[in-house]
Amino acid sequence: MITCTGCSLLCDDIDVVIENHRIKEVRNACRRGAAKLKGCRNRLRPSIDQTPADIDTSIKRAALILKNARSPMLYGWSNSTCEAQSNGIKLAKKLNAIIDDTSSFCQGLLIEKVLKKKFRACSLDDVKNKADVLVYWGSDAQDSQPRHLSRFSYFPRGESRQRGYEEDRIAIAIDVRESNTAKICKGHFYRIPLKGDREFILSLTGALSGKVPKHDAKRILELADIMKKAEFGAIFVGIGLTYSIKDDVDILVALGDMLPNFHILPMVGHYNMRGFNEALFKETGFVNRVRFDSTAVHENKYAIVEALKQKSIDALLVTGSDPLSCLPGSMISYLASIPVICIDPCVTLTSKISKITIPSAVSGIESGGSAVRMDGKVIELSGIVENNYLADTEILSRIMEEL
Ligand code: SF4
Repeated sequence: MITCTGCSLLCDDIDVVIENHRIKEVRNACRRGAAKLKGCRNRLRPSIDQTPADIDTSIKRAALILKNARSPMLYGWSNSTCEAQSNGIKLAKKLNAIIDDTSSFCQGLLIEKVLKKKFRACSLDDVKNKADVLVYWGSDAQDSQPRHLSRFSYFPRGESRQRGYEEDRIAIAIDVRESNTAKICKGHFYRIPLKGDREFILSLTGALSGKVPKHDAKRILELADIMKKAEFGAIFVGIGLTYSIKDDVDILVALGDMLPNFHILPMVGHYNMRGFNEALFKETGFVNRVRFDSTAVHENKYAIVEALKQKSIDALLVTGSDPLSCLPGSMISYLASIPVICIDPCVTLTSKISKITIPSAVSGIESGGSAVRMDGKVIELSGIVENNYLADTEILSRIMEEL
């Protein structure tokens, strides 16, 4: 059995058939996971200024760029192993650099609340064994974490939920559109207007304290009643909800406080975003947007989006992410004007504009390590396919040695 790194469920029940140092067949994974496990079609090669180079020279040049930069940033990390993340934090300290990850513009604030124990959280195994009411809020798990409902929440039998979804569990979706997850929730889909989450939370907290909501009173009272009667409830918070309420995570804390049997779980996308957040939090007390100097400083201007807007960084090392594929076009021209070092197994949009590219082994297939599942459980990754690539953590160690 191996672990799939296709999403933060880190399914560790995957069987594979290997032929000629490649994965030929995948069993138990969803379609997304199977595609990830079969590896990238277009492997990255070492290069300098988009011209082929040997890996040692590429690593040396990467170190030189970082050493000479006035304000370097190390970014990405959500698709890197815990070992690489730990080395990345050490490198940032050594360089007095800024370090940030993809949680900076998605679930970072929510994960910080979980780590600070502002919410009641629980494990996915608890959800499987105990949960009777499951609320997918702004989250289309069927598309983003495709085995969430089948492995842990709605469909499986659990210790206290032997009759599974047929009789023992209610799945609810709150969303702006009827997603694939909402279709499974059938009679319990609550459609809300775009950016209407805040108002819906306020109506729901009002209903929980006995007030009649102004709009859609019957359905909101019915939802409040189901949630109040839950023996073990879970709210799975997707980025639809976090983007909608922006920084006002306290409104969710207040909802959680009114539902003593409920647990709140951020629906993390990338396979090890939580691992990075936990590692940086342990080191600095913050989950992202940190600059190391004599001490660790956390400010919004250290988020990649702000740093590119303000043109405040002069070199960028990217690993475990492809920022060019998701950043607004207005920032890309500045990104393309500074030296970018890209460590990745595959050719990406970011690698195509990078000054230095350094290919790495595919974690969980060509190199081992560990990662943190969306609920905080550490899962081991194994390297099962022979190869000549360096693991991302080794590349970072080599860069550190060259400084
Ligand atoms: S649900 Fe996620 S971790 Fe599990 S097999 Fe699919 S992509 Fe991989």
